[in-house]
Amino acid sequence: MNPPWACVVWDLDGTLLQRGAGRPVDGVEGVLAAWSAAGVEMAVATSASTTLARRVVDELGWSGWFGHVAGSAPGVGGKDAVIAEALLGLGRVLPDGARDAAMVGDSPADVWAAHVHGLTAVGVTWSGTPADALADADLLWPRPDAAWHPPS
Ligand SMILES: [Mg+2]
Repeated sequence: MNPPWACVVWDLDGTLLQRGAGRPVDGVEGVLAAWSAAGVEMAVATSASTTLARRVVDELGWSGWFGHVAGSAPGVGGKDAVIAEALLGLGRVLPDGARDAAMVGDSPADVWAAHVHGLTAVGVTWSGTPADALADADLLWPRPDAAWHPPS
């Protein structure tokens, strides 16, 4: 299903990668390939170090799908700062850069940070985060091959 957003910022651990395991979540590569082909601008925003995140994305062969990979770095801390950096790397300057953009993540911190900047917050529950922990998200996404839906 193609997304309703022109721009999607992805969390890495627990969202694109199995939590703590470094392996892709089943089905996410198909989503990334399809959305990239559909012209969706995409970036990674992770609390991991930028150096590590770029190496992981490169080693997985994912670099072509992302216009920017942003992580923690000296002077860039907190998920809200990392999201701003990710958007900036796509040429999107806040606050207007949040228009038609979503953040997909598995943590309440992802939801909070998305809302700091006015992005749509999509909470994924496929890594085991309980839906009620992501109740502030605009949408919940249970599996990569399933539809997202508003929190109940
Ligand atoms: Mg995460």
